[in-house]
Parts: sequence; C-alpha cells; structure tokens
Amino acid sequence: LNEKLDYMENLGIVGFEPNGRNLAARVNELEQALRGRNIRVSAICAGFEGFILAEDPAVKAQFDSTMREIIAAAGAIGSPGVIMVPAFNGQKPCKPHTFETRQYLCEELFKLGEYAKECGTTVILEPLNRRECFYLRLVGDAAAICRDTNSEGVKCMGDFWHMQEETSDYAALLAAGPEYLQHVHMASRGKRRMPGEDGELDNYVEGFRALKQMGYDKYVSFECGCSGDPEILVPAAVELLRSQWELA
Ligand code: MG
Repeated sequence: LNEKLDYMENLGIVGFEPNGRNLAARVNELEQALRGRNIRVSAICAGFEGFILAEDPAVKAQFDSTMREIIAAAGAIGSPGVIMVPAFNGQKPCKPHTFETRQYLCEELFKLGEYAKECGTTVILEPLNRRECFYLRLVGDAAAICRDTNSEGVKCMGDFWHMQEETSDYAALLAAGPEYLQHVHMASRGKRRMPGEDGELDNYVEGFRALKQMGYDKYVSFECGCSGDPEILVPAAVELLRSQWELA
C-alpha cells in the first residue's frame, strides 16, 4: 500500500479509491498510510454482499448489513462516498423492472442515504452499460433517482467507460450537475485500459467541459487495467487527463 501511494504521489495524484471489502478492518491501516500525504480517499468502490433489488429477503438483508458497515467505515476515513450498483444483470432473482420497483428503490435508497449522511458520507449510484446492468445505464437516469429519493446522502457518478451508452458525454454529466454528480471514473474507451491506450477513441474533452462548466471540484478516478508497460502507460494516462482537462 505504501509503495502504491508513493508511486501515486510522485505522479501528483491526490485521490485513492480502495475497494470496500473488509473496509472496517482496514480503517486504521489506511489512516496510517495516508498520514502526512497529499492523498485522500476519493471514494470507496463497492465491496458489499447481496444487492438492493434482491427478491430474496436474506440477500437484501446481507446487502443492508454489509453496505452499512462499509458506509460507517467510509465515514470514519473521510471518504466522500461509497459506490454501488442497484443490480448487475447476473444477480438473480431480482425485483422486476417496473414502476413499483423504482419506487421501492427510492425508498430503500432514502434510508441508506440518511444513514450515510449521519456517518458523514454518501452513497453513489453508478450507471453501467447494458451488458452489465440493464437496470441503470444513463447518468441522467441515476440523477433522476437521486432527485426522487430526496436525500442529501444519495448521489450519482459517471464512468467514461460505461458512458458508451450515452449520446453525449457533455449532456450526460451536465444532466447530473453539481447537485448530484459526486464522482467520475475513467478508462480507455475501447478495451478499458489506461486512457490513451485506445488512441483517438480516448477523448474526454466534451465530458471534461461539462465538469468545468459546473465547477466540478471532486475526483476523476482511473478504473482500468493496463496492457503494456505501466512505467510508460500510467504516467502517459495522467498526462493525457491533465492535457485534455486543460483543453476542455
Ligand atoms: Mg466504474
């Protein structure tokens, strides 16, 4: 962990996004590792068991208890949020995609959001692409769920990889706006590797323009693999992010 943080610090990276699995037991370790550094926890990425739209009450209960434990730990280490997906396509049995389920989702998210607020953090809905999560694919839809949930503890995010679903990066991020947009993921837009590995496909300028216009002051986090030499590709990706941000 310390080597990783040293490497990040050398590149001028200021946010670190750990996975939520077993987070409660890692709070101390993470606090120690971040002490005296210019790096903060940018978000906690999932790590819970079960899922919020599970039909089986036991699976839903598993989600509630593990997610709440992660939320409490996230608040303790000062993370601005915990990322979650309502249901992956493979998670079954799942509540049907109906009006009633949407109502149910808002009610359940409200309880979770209020709990997150008490803990000093938020829950962040992440839309994915249709192959992974048919239920939630668009940033604007995630933002509308936040609005209808009406809890300050419920936010959403955009992931440039999944945003292949969107017709416009600019419109998608602006639709969420400063009120709901809490986090952003990026990856190369062909193979989900380091930004830059897919050449001209890796254009984030329109999305960044929306972020700049709304005064976005949160994190843009790399969530991707690397198919070549990381000593070359990782610094190049950080440079690409900075130059495209400048350009936007
Ligand atoms: Mg993501």
